[in-house]
Amino acid sequence: MIRLASPEIPEDALHAVRDVLTSGWLVQGKHVAAFEEAVAGFVGIEHAVAVNSGTSALHTTLLAMGVGPGDAVAVSAYSYVASANVIELCGATPVFVDVDPRTFNMDPAGLERALQQQANGVRIVAIMVVHAFGQMADLDAIGEIAGRHQIPLIEDAACALGATWSGKPPGATTRVACFSFHPRKAITTGEGGMIVTADAHLAATSRALRNHGQDATASSPDFVLPGLNYRMTEFQAVLGSAALRQLPQSITRRRELAARYDELLADIVEVPKVPEASGHVYQSYVVLLPVAVAKARAEIIAALAQRGVESNIGTWSIPTTTYYRKRYGYVDESFPVTSEVFALSLSLPLHDKLTAQDQFEVVAALGAVLSERLEAST
Ligand SMILES: *Cc1c(COP(=O)(O)O)cnc(C)c1O
Repeated sequence: MIRLASPEIPEDALHAVRDVLTSGWLVQGKHVAAFEEAVAGFVGIEHAVAVNSGTSALHTTLLAMGVGPGDAVAVSAYSYVASANVIELCGATPVFVDVDPRTFNMDPAGLERALQQQANGVRIVAIMVVHAFGQMADLDAIGEIAGRHQIPLIEDAACALGATWSGKPPGATTRVACFSFHPRKAITTGEGGMIVTADAHLAATSRALRNHGQDATASSPDFVLPGLNYRMTEFQAVLGSAALRQLPQSITRRRELAARYDELLADIVEVPKVPEASGHVYQSYVVLLPVAVAKARAEIIAALAQRGVESNIGTWSIPTTTYYRKRYGYVDESFPVTSEVFALSLSLPLHDKLTAQDQFEVVAALGAVLSERLEAST
């Protein structure tokens, strides 16, 4: 089977993990601090706060910003459910914004409309912009809108470590950015996440929230707010630091693979569109199937698997998952672009160990499966 993804664990990390496990200090010590420093250095932002998942990073950020009942947060409709779930879990309301079909990212015009239509007593207090599949959203346009309305931007950069927009990484132009280190992301610690921000107060509150509300700067233990346990372990941190050292090579490799797919797939499907300003890191390589076969996507995924190629849907239309559909009454037509790309997207194998031969096989399998389907549909 040609796998969709294959997490990289550098060889030196294995030894480092063993050393940590036998050291007797397992949770949030010097290795977590070193990993935080490494990530802060990598993105060029002052504060980095490690937590135990990307979801924890987003949840901690919203709590630290004081988002709660009566508040609303604008968020991309096409994303992993975690982006919206953390808003719900703070007692706030997600205001979904439809996406641009070319980039899968928040449509600035849709954001502007959402901000102008604020009503019913909910007030948009933050904008969570998601960077889909390793490509940053248009932070020039979205940043301009957020600035004009004086609303802080939170970046769900779970998939976008290493990506840039107009040469700037996540966190450089906004209040805060959150990364994930789940095995499907750019670097992995098994589970893990990181908050990066230039805001010292937000960083300090996040440090307290991840550790039961303990003031990280006090000389003797003192609990200054009701916190959680979202701490990262030391052995995860050494995995992260080792993987981060390899990230630039990994990004180069992924870009080469994506360029080859772009060429080979151009006549069969719609390949990813990359705006001039975007430095895409291809956390996933997601194409759009022809409309004629949309209803058969599940069968296409199964037929590809039979031919030895693992594939998957891109990501989710959050408003039409059962919870949000029931709670807010959304239908497929509520966010038409999101519904369309949700139905047509297909994620193809992309990882550091993928070879050119693998790619030829993926493209041949997809071509064969699609022509069978297209014939069946005419
Ligand atoms: C993976 C992902 C998350 C959640 O990250 P975890 O580390 O799995 O909790 C949130 N948002 C997006 C866009 C993601 O892709």
